[in-house]
Amino acid sequence: MSGSKARQEAIQAVTNYKPISAPLNFNETPANELYGSNVFSLKVMQDRLPKNIFKSLKRTIDRGEMLDPLAADVVAVAMKAWAVEKGATHYAHIFHPLTGITAEKHDSFLEPDGMGGAMPEFTGKALIQGEPDASSFPSGGIRNTFEARGYTAWDVTSPAYILENPNGTTLCIPTAFVSWTGEALDKKTPVLRSMKALNTQATRILKLFGHKDGVMVSATAGPEQEYFLIDRNFFFARPDLLNAGRTLFGAKPPKGQEFEDQYFGAIPERVLACMLETERELYKLGVPVKTRHNEVAPSQYEIAPIYENANVAADHQQILMLMLKRVASKYGLECLLHEKPFAGVNGSGKHLNWSLGNSAQGNLLEPGANPHDNAQFLVFCAAVIRAVHKYAPVLRAAVASASNDHRLGANEAPPAIISIFLGSQLADVFEQLKKGPATSSKQAGTLTVGVDTLPPLPKDAGDRNRTSPFAFTGNKFEFRAVASNQSISGPLVVLNTIVAESLDYIATKLEAATNGDASKLNGAVQTVLQEIATNHSAIIFNGDGYSEAWHKEAEKRGLPNYKTSVDALPALGAPEVAALFEKYKVLTKRELDSRTDIYLEQYCKTVRSESKLVVEIAKTLIYPASVRYQSELAAAAANLKAAGLTPCVETLTKVTDLINGLSKSITALEKTGEHHVEGLLNEAKHFCNDVLPAMAEVRKFADELESIVADDLWPLPTYQEMLFIK
Ligand code: ADP
Ligand code: MG
Repeated sequence: MSGSKARQEAIQAVTNYKPISAPLNFNETPANELYGSNVFSLKVMQDRLPKNIFKSLKRTIDRGEMLDPLAADVVAVAMKAWAVEKGATHYAHIFHPLTGITAEKHDSFLEPDGMGGAMPEFTGKALIQGEPDASSFPSGGIRNTFEARGYTAWDVTSPAYILENPNGTTLCIPTAFVSWTGEALDKKTPVLRSMKALNTQATRILKLFGHKDGVMVSATAGPEQEYFLIDRNFFFARPDLLNAGRTLFGAKPPKGQEFEDQYFGAIPERVLACMLETERELYKLGVPVKTRHNEVAPSQYEIAPIYENANVAADHQQILMLMLKRVASKYGLECLLHEKPFAGVNGSGKHLNWSLGNSAQGNLLEPGANPHDNAQFLVFCAAVIRAVHKYAPVLRAAVASASNDHRLGANEAPPAIISIFLGSQLADVFEQLKKGPATSSKQAGTLTVGVDTLPPLPKDAGDRNRTSPFAFTGNKFEFRAVASNQSISGPLVVLNTIVAESLDYIATKLEAATNGDASKLNGAVQTVLQEIATNHSAIIFNGDGYSEAWHKEAEKRGLPNYKTSVDALPALGAPEVAALFEKYKVLTKRELDSRTDIYLEQYCKTVRSESKLVVEIAKTLIYPASVRYQSELAAAAANLKAAGLTPCVETLTKVTDLINGLSKSITALEKTGEHHVEGLLNEAKHFCNDVLPAMAEVRKFADELESIVADDLWPLPTYQEMLFIK
């Protein structure tokens, strides 16, 4: 479909908007009844399992105790009965290979009974373990194809659920994916290992503060997801969006986001209908989505859940991305999760809100009204500060991808320099700590609005800062450099592990200094806090992260600035990074190296395929349209001349120049793209330093042609159309 045809159909879709399926009958089942209705939840387990089995399972979930293998058979029978009642014919082990996608292998419950019939069967073994043919998933050299066995293992701590389809339902079982040698081939296994490490170290600290109950400490996560929704007519008419998820061409529209009239604006009807159905589907699956709003860029939106145990949150995040895409298509919309689908307007990120806590002590990053006086909070907070300072390159590497490179540092998203925003209250406390005990906390107070009918509003003790990659926001940290399309697992693994290391460091010091004598704790804490505040405050920055001045200042402070993924990923190869992950049994060196390789490979694959797309689109769509226009202009000039008039050839000359430039740049890109380089890292460098600029050169000519070639000849939907027809 050409640009103008797609445009007409999209306008039709918007003006004659009717949902493809019948409107939801939202009065029939209230949202609270719907919530969790397709989840094999604790409540369902309690109702359906024998008491002792339920208790044993709950111990595994709550305290991380070993799963009783005998329980599996009993659970499998109950799970099957529940699923079959809900129309399930199949079960699927769900896993997250290193491609970042959600993988699923479906098997039918039905087993022939030998009498010509069949019965639904599901054993503990089938629940606990699956064996998908794993040879086609990336393993970064861990697994040779001749030893391609990969196993999926039931993750008891993340609930099973039912995925509906109009033609049947499937029981989905969250699993970890490991090789025959037990090495992690997925994103979940390291998350679980890192949660264990975090629990161990946090418990040591809590013990020192007198909490000896040993209630398991978990990381918590609440990821805010940004995304674009555009009419599908446009999506299918743009080979770049279809294949690369982002536009590789497109002149800036006359109106972008400069009016700031989109952020929190009224949500268009079709979009809201789509959101409502997405949320309903997510409710059924027990994904606690809470917030929705328009984002800064035109056609950009956000959805955020209430935070949960980080492992469950990571699974729910994957489901959320899947549902956003799935439901959007029912409304004639395409959900774009790419970090930078459109140049010149804001890209999308995923703000990963992170904390740690347990059911006994609550959120361990809750400062209370007087943080200076809250030694336990200060210890946990200092642990995060030290961790982020010491391992900033690892955090940066955890969000590295070809697509996120277009967003980080583009003056709309945090810079590639990792720093921490603490807010004025906490920054002040840490300043005091450098000199000795902190004695005061700036107080929050109330906001007076100046209108009598409005209630006085409590004021937060610290303001917000949108430019910081890692911000303390009241009682949690918000890691804002995470990519919109990315699984949150990688960033979680890094956060959990580096904080575990810091807590270990602090616990070791405190244990040695107190030697069992609780009266010495205050003094010991004071010493550690002073040391951390002194050695690690370079990472704290409360100013404007976008400014040039900060880049200079950061350099002075010795903070790394890895601008691209190709700069950032090799940091994972440092011996101290391997030692960190090995020490806490999160990743072996082989597992870590395999990840670096896979991510570098993915980088190369992404840029390679984008560069091929640029060549193809430029040759088969943009060049022909431009030449057609050129011939029209040339014919018009010739006609005028024949009629004895002097034609104005200004546009013809300009178009001809641009076409020549386009041709040359295409040839140059083809040549650079085919250039072979030895070694993965060198190849990635070549794509970063040579291929990407060559692609930009082609785009420069193409975008200029777009603004000059007759509209009816232009083959691609424009930015204006894609972003504003909704
Ligand atoms: P903000 O306004 O600072 O963005 P919100 O209260 O709206 O804060 O929360 C944003 C996200 O942070 C939500 O997903 C929320 O559930 C999550 N969040 C809140 N508390 C925690 C916590 N203790 N751990 C992890 N995430 C949290
Ligand atoms: Mg937020």
